[in-house]
Amino acid sequence: MAELPKQANVVIIGGGVIGCSIAYHLVKLGFEDVVLLERQQLTSGTTWHAAGLVGQLRASINMTKLAKYTRELYRGLEAETGQATGYRQSGSISVATNSERFEELKRSASMAKVFDLEVNVIGVDEIVERYPIINGSDLIGGIHIPTDGYANAVDISQALAKGARAGGAQVFQNTKVTAIRHDGSVITGVETPAGNIAANCVVLCAGMWTRDLAATVGINIPLHACEHYYALFESVEGLEPNLPVLRDYDACSYYKYDAGKLMVGAFEPHAKPWGMGGIAEDFCFDEIAGDLEHFEPILTGAMHRIPALENAGLQKFFCGPESFTPDVRYHIGKVPEFDNCYVSAGLNSIGLQSAGGIGKVMAEWIRDGYPPVDLWEVDVRRNMRFQGNRKYLQERVSETLGLLYATHWPYRQYTSSRGVRKSALYDRLVERGACHGEAFGWERPNWYAPSGVEPVYAYSYGRQNWFEYSAAEHRNVRANVALFDQSSFAKFRLEGRDAANVLNRVCANDIDVAVGRLVYTQWLNARGGIEADLTVTRLDENSFLIVTAAETEVRDFHWLRSHIPAEAHCVLINVTSAMGVISIMGPRSRELLQSLTPADLSHPEFPFASSREIELGYAIVRASRITFVGELGWELYVPSEFMAGVYDEIVAAGQDYDLAHAGYHALNSLRIEKAYRHWSHDITDEDTPLEAGLGFTVRFDKAGGFIGRDALLRQQESGLKRQLVQFRLTDPGPLLYHNEPIWRDGELVGHITSGAYGHTLGGCIGLGYVWLGDGEVPTDVVSGRYEIEVACERVPAEASLRPMYDPDNSRIRC
Ligand SMILES: Cc1cc2nc3c(=O)[nH]c(=O)nc-3n(C[C@H](O)[C@H](O)[C@H](O)COP(=O)(O)OP(=O)(O)OC[C@H]3O[C@@H](n4cnc5c(N)ncnc54)[C@H](O)[C@@H]3O)c2cc1C
Repeated sequence: MAELPKQANVVIIGGGVIGCSIAYHLVKLGFEDVVLLERQQLTSGTTWHAAGLVGQLRASINMTKLAKYTRELYRGLEAETGQATGYRQSGSISVATNSERFEELKRSASMAKVFDLEVNVIGVDEIVERYPIINGSDLIGGIHIPTDGYANAVDISQALAKGARAGGAQVFQNTKVTAIRHDGSVITGVETPAGNIAANCVVLCAGMWTRDLAATVGINIPLHACEHYYALFESVEGLEPNLPVLRDYDACSYYKYDAGKLMVGAFEPHAKPWGMGGIAEDFCFDEIAGDLEHFEPILTGAMHRIPALENAGLQKFFCGPESFTPDVRYHIGKVPEFDNCYVSAGLNSIGLQSAGGIGKVMAEWIRDGYPPVDLWEVDVRRNMRFQGNRKYLQERVSETLGLLYATHWPYRQYTSSRGVRKSALYDRLVERGACHGEAFGWERPNWYAPSGVEPVYAYSYGRQNWFEYSAAEHRNVRANVALFDQSSFAKFRLEGRDAANVLNRVCANDIDVAVGRLVYTQWLNARGGIEADLTVTRLDENSFLIVTAAETEVRDFHWLRSHIPAEAHCVLINVTSAMGVISIMGPRSRELLQSLTPADLSHPEFPFASSREIELGYAIVRASRITFVGELGWELYVPSEFMAGVYDEIVAAGQDYDLAHAGYHALNSLRIEKAYRHWSHDITDEDTPLEAGLGFTVRFDKAGGFIGRDALLRQQESGLKRQLVQFRLTDPGPLLYHNEPIWRDGELVGHITSGAYGHTLGGCIGLGYVWLGDGEVPTDVVSGRYEIEVACERVPAEASLRPMYDPDNSRIRC
């Protein structure tokens, strides 16, 4: 065996399909000195027992693009490397046994058009024709994807490793990384029994070992292994090699032709976490004994779907461990804890079909220091520290494994690991009928059940049980006054003599404003893309309050911290837990709050976008005049221990003003009528403020400039290629969620980035980017005949560049 090098450019830890793919793609980009270290043998962790499915349709557009690339890569890998891969384009069929599942499949067939993946909606006759051994008696339809297929995971990994070696990468097996070295801020290399390697960059691809390995240097990678099952049947009558892969989501199972046998795999609703006491040191190509009783309901369903199984022989019952994550999305990207450390782990049983795309984007990310496309949904920076806790993970992954095949209901809530982060008002809001949803550990009131109604979700792709209650909350905000608990906002303070200069360089808007002013701004990357969307309040000369979404607490904190120059005199502190937020919104909010405070809340004395501390009952709270619902209102930042008292005072006084409570679903329907953008949906690191119609927040001429300015100026010069547009479906029936294709004069021009019902505007509202035609400028974009495709039906829509609700802001600035 070759000797370990003393120095490498990139060290990849782990020789599963993911590590091999990253090595392969790095050398393709011209990286030299790439070293892959595998503790045992390549694929000996989870990869060797992958069932081999290579499907392409995922729940979102960028994830599907990655899976589509994977399939294209695998198709040509054997010819390129000379290593057989077992890749076969068999096509796939997914079937539905109920109308809601069929709607889900049809919605995904519509989404597939956005990136040119052929997905055909088919009837039961065609399902039976394509899969003659199926029992179609209880089916109502399905989809067929002709270019899906399967491959041999071991051979694919070996082919990728061979391609990597051919490009100069060195692969060392039986070489365990025993420690990761760092100097406090930078990873400096790795230790192995065969010697140490100094490295410029380290990539953690250690599968189910990744959480514990990362934790040794304080990196948080929440994942946990679960038992994962399949069974192989032999002598199945009528089994043909040309059968497509079959997915029967309603029975949590899939079927694949496997060398003369039929494989039946499962994503059961209550999975079994594995390896709670650690993983044996000698684990290598190991199986788990498995629990046949646990798998029995799947087998019963399989006998029903494929009756020939009743007379077939069970040749192998298999159970192997695979890592699952709290939100069934994998973790990739640069870790926030160290600048030169990356991760790709927690593959949730889609590692083989994702590996090609992951390898490609990870290699580009390592080369450039930023992701090539918006990858927020799988970005490792979305994780909160508590999510690495074993108790949380073990409970959550028992649920998430099954969610891969469960119906992806809009607004679906987790049922496990709940009650983790609670606002000080939690119990009081429960008494008011709050139905809490979970977001990043926070319990947040999504809607309020009236007296006599149980606050639980009844899911559907149509109007869910809370629709009318939320509509009433929405209307009350527009007409009267309502209370929102928005304590989950992430809140930071930046303090110090250089705070204003440092922050102004990061913000596209000018935050060097008078004390007591509040500024809505974006943080941009050097390409002009929107990294964060938040407000900054100047508390005093050298002190700022930064308020951002709960979702981006880790990401935004890290972004700002990494842009504080070493010599700058300022300190960034996360004060999220120090205060809760009560928002009082609606035309009567001034009257209500004025009755509780001696401060003058009149428009001249307390104008829009101002903020100050006021007395409210026994407490001193920070009142900020701002809104995310498009009405007069104040966000009250209340020290945590005062929250309950302040709330009680407001609710007591509110009786005279018909104060009602409102939840996050109402917040969403209100904000979308006003076309307020939501970061991660409508605006991402791929979208610039100019494309997003947020040019009004950019101060090109402020002293010192800002990150992203040059890119925006170049974009202004060359002209925009796409523009965010607000849509309203003219038929009040259909509902938009996201990813629905946008058609303009019969041509596909974009997709919906977020959608919700507009109870004031009377129809579903969506936001989405539209590609401009030749010679068009953004204002031309509203012309033409628009339709939005919902579950394969095109619905006429109106388009507008200005908010359809209160375009002149008359309801806010009063
Ligand atoms: C039953 C089953 C069926 C599946 N079916 C499919 C399917 O049909 N399609 C699909 O896409 N996916 C499927 N999967 C999932 C897929 O197998 C995994 O997602 C994928 O193999 C994960 O690859 P990985 O490289 O992240 O992990 P692994 O393959 O586990 O690789 C990690 C490697 O890191 C090594 N390592 C750990 N610690 C160290 C260290 N300290 N130093 C050096 N090396 C280290 C390990 O030895 C291991 O080889 C299935 C999984 C199971 C269990």
